[in-house]
Amino acid sequence: MALVEIVDLRKTYHLGGQDIHALDGVSLKVEAGEFIAVMGPSGSGKSTFMNLVGCLDRPTAGAYRLDGEAISALSADGLATVRNRRIGFVFQQFHLIQEINAVANVELPMIYAGQPRSLRREMAIAALARVGLGDRLYHKPTELSGGQQQRVAIARALVNKPAILLADEPTGALDSRTSLDIMALFQTLHREGVTVIVVTHEPEVAAFASRVIHFRDGRILKDSSHQPRDAAAALAQLEGEAA
Ligand code: ADP
Ligand code: MG
Repeated sequence: MALVEIVDLRKTYHLGGQDIHALDGVSLKVEAGEFIAVMGPSGSGKSTFMNLVGCLDRPTAGAYRLDGEAISALSADGLATVRNRRIGFVFQQFHLIQEINAVANVELPMIYAGQPRSLRREMAIAALARVGLGDRLYHKPTELSGGQQQRVAIARALVNKPAILLADEPTGALDSRTSLDIMALFQTLHREGVTVIVVTHEPEVAAFASRVIHFRDGRILKDSSHQPRDAAAALAQLEGEAA
């Protein structure tokens, strides 16, 4: 059984008397442990697709099973529970809470999941260490660089041990060196067994995934697998050139 099974998924928006088919019949399977890049021009349905896979939104039609569970049949509460327990989401603008430190940001999903305080603290610290921020635990977002803030967001996404990690343009707000750094982190997490789907409009970023799905007009135009580029090696090369 595939981790994600999507059949003829559709999302239609009604805007100013017009129907917008943001997703126009998408079918695919994702196996546990895959690292996928989603590409396509602006407006092609990438974010709509991610929001449906991430249980942030409901489809107009079609079926979605996550780990065998029929997501399309769930109530709003059921959807929220699946989102909290099974999905880790990372966004372009990090979406951290500015007033609280890194540990407190990472603890948030565990508060919603009802974990006891002492365990929350311990798991948040472990998640931050996993993304290389063991020495920035009590810094607030404003005291961190963009790349470090994205690492906090990735730690927050991972802390409930989700079935799938979804990232919508996670390097969109970062310079090219920091982008490589974040992609190297995704590759490490992928090697550790995390299933990752990353949206990007940059082919150089997509090259770090082993499967690339191209969207166009709300449909899958192309879905292909290839040998991924090694982000750590690309980073080392960049730093060698700079030295
Ligand atoms: P992408 O992420 O590939 O740029 P989106 O999934 O955001 O594309 O959007 C796909 C299409 O759906 C676009 O035409 C967009 O304008 C439209 N769309 C997205 N969200 C909404 C919404 N909330 N209301 C109306 N139209 C929307
Ligand atoms: Mg988008």
